[in-house]
Amino acid sequence: MNENDMVSVVIPVFNEESNLEELIQRCLSACSVMGGKFEIIFVDDGSKDKSPLILKQASEENPDKIRVIILNRNYGQHSAVLAGFAEITGEIVVTLDADLQNPPEEIPKLVAKIREGYDVVGSVRVPRNDSMFRKIASLIINLSVRKVTGVIMHDYGCMLRAYRKNIVDAILQCNERSTFIPVLANMFAANTTEVEVSHSRRLSGESKYDIWKLLNLQFDLMTSMTTFPLRLLSIFGGIISFCGISFGLFLMAMRIIHGAHWAVDGVFTLFAILFIFVGAQFIGMGLLGEYLGRIYHDVRARPRYFVKEKFGKPHN
Ligand code: UDP
Ligand code: MG
Repeated sequence: MNENDMVSVVIPVFNEESNLEELIQRCLSACSVMGGKFEIIFVDDGSKDKSPLILKQASEENPDKIRVIILNRNYGQHSAVLAGFAEITGEIVVTLDADLQNPPEEIPKLVAKIREGYDVVGSVRVPRNDSMFRKIASLIINLSVRKVTGVIMHDYGCMLRAYRKNIVDAILQCNERSTFIPVLANMFAANTTEVEVSHSRRLSGESKYDIWKLLNLQFDLMTSMTTFPLRLLSIFGGIISFCGISFGLFLMAMRIIHGAHWAVDGVFTLFAILFIFVGAQFIGMGLLGEYLGRIYHDVRARPRYFVKEKFGKPHN
């Protein structure tokens, strides 16, 4: 790794007008401190507020440092980051959230690690300043990713991360539509490391992740990494059927031994059995639906995003 390798910072922005000015200033100064060339690529993910205007203005003021990609509507954080990845010209790529929860001042720390020779540098938020609900959701996501990928990273949710360009290229070659960037990156990385970074409360505005977006993320993660839930379905179905059959045999035996009055004509028992089966089927169909939905998306192979406008000029 060359000391002069250019750094590209990619920041997705969705309705963050109140954070942008401070973000831009702090990023510019953090990157300048590092020395060497850098570019900051802001991807506006269909914001409805003044974010695109603020970004455009910033890029006009610093055309060689700030580039802006404006997507025509909201595609979600990960698609926005990918849109930024497609534009990078640097050898080292850093991603960052726009809400200043991850201090831009940590960028040099991550870049230094990449220069030491790591492919991917993750970060762990200490202490984490989020709502209880958000923390629990992250805990579940982190646990399942660790189980599935076998890669020990403690904080997949923290988007303050650094990648070497070849990893970003590999991610871009993945044509799947439900992407979880940190996990994909770890699939291609030979050596990864983590650094501790501080985490503040959101400067202003609200978290863009509600329970539905989080749930979607969790399913994206699960279905994109493994077909284990499908196997789980078979195991679960097997156990349920086994119980059902054993229960049926038990009832039949008792009926033969004790006669019809013992089973109170069996109406409620039948209902109970029916409920178990219907329940199991619904769980199964739900899971299948999750996979099918994603296959459907991939088969249609729609572009992940459309760029509306670009400002700032790429290096070289
Ligand atoms: N974001 C985005 N598109 C979306 C949702 C979020 O580009 O549909 C951006 C958002 O502007 C922020 C980052 O993704 O820069 C993380 O979002 P947020 O802070 O709301 O998530 P949290 O911190 O709760 O994980
Ligand atoms: Mg945030």
